[in-house]
Amino acid sequence: MSFSGEIKEELGGQISTARHCQIAEISALISMCGSVMIDSNNRYAIKIHTENLIVARKCFTLLEKTFNIRTEISIRKNLIRQSVSYWIIVKKHEEAIKVLQATKLINKDGEVFEELSIVKNVIVQQYCCKRAFIRGAFLASGSISDPEKSYHFEIVCAVRAKAEQLQKIMNSFGIDAKVILRKKSYVVYVKEGAQIADLLNIIEAHVALMKFENVRIIKDMRNTVNRKVNCETANINKTVSAAVKQVEDIVYIRDTIGLENLSDALRDVALTRLEYPEATLKELGDLLTTPIGKSGVNHRLRKLGEMADKLRENKEVRYD
Ligand SMILES: [Zn+2]
Repeated sequence: MSFSGEIKEELGGQISTARHCQIAEISALISMCGSVMIDSNNRYAIKIHTENLIVARKCFTLLEKTFNIRTEISIRKNLIRQSVSYWIIVKKHEEAIKVLQATKLINKDGEVFEELSIVKNVIVQQYCCKRAFIRGAFLASGSISDPEKSYHFEIVCAVRAKAEQLQKIMNSFGIDAKVILRKKSYVVYVKEGAQIADLLNIIEAHVALMKFENVRIIKDMRNTVNRKVNCETANINKTVSAAVKQVEDIVYIRDTIGLENLSDALRDVALTRLEYPEATLKELGDLLTTPIGKSGVNHRLRKLGEMADKLRENKEVRYD
């Protein structure tokens, strides 16, 4: 199951105990995936459409618990798309009006507000209800990518008013949600790991939050290790290229003035370096006839380097 699927399963089973929160969640569910039908006799009905059984079940349960309404469910299988559609229907006019008024999806005159956006945020004044509202919206049309792959949380809205409303509610928790237009939908999204973790906490997906944080910790650790390895590799490369230069210098001295003309100390280092081109300075010091420390080795190698440079300059003078 996808990470989104796991979260929806976790959230599907939770029903808020407070009635105000239940209403806020139903409001989000209807706003995101519901529609209102008004017939020629001005009779209202609500239809909620989803392809997710968990969401269908949650709508059914919430409407029953909050409003004591028995909804009708119709199921349709699409063999070509290999999907199942669930329709939760509030058929009775009085019941539909009761739900729409409580969820503030219509105004006093019975007008549907901006394609089912909630009227002036009145039902989401309290933080508990804001959480419930985001939870409902996520269940209805949200998704989150597998944290192993990337950090991305989004809720797709049909109209700009809904997206901006949702964005504002998320912002009130300090979440920096953004809105983009994708094809004909307005997508509210968050791309930062820590903020997605906050969101999972806000919608009370605690099991998913733990899983998400575990992945984040491991990813962070992996990044730190990679950075360290890269850094060490860079240091090794530096050491190797220094050694290559030292060997070149020594070979140059050998082929010009001959190593036998060097002082004992310098000849010792020169011969040992030629024999052990990959040894570190410390190892080289230990390998000498009379062992010396790292800085001593460094000092002698630098002398050899300067000597080789001088010889090269003289050669240029001589031959040009
Ligand atoms: Zn509440």
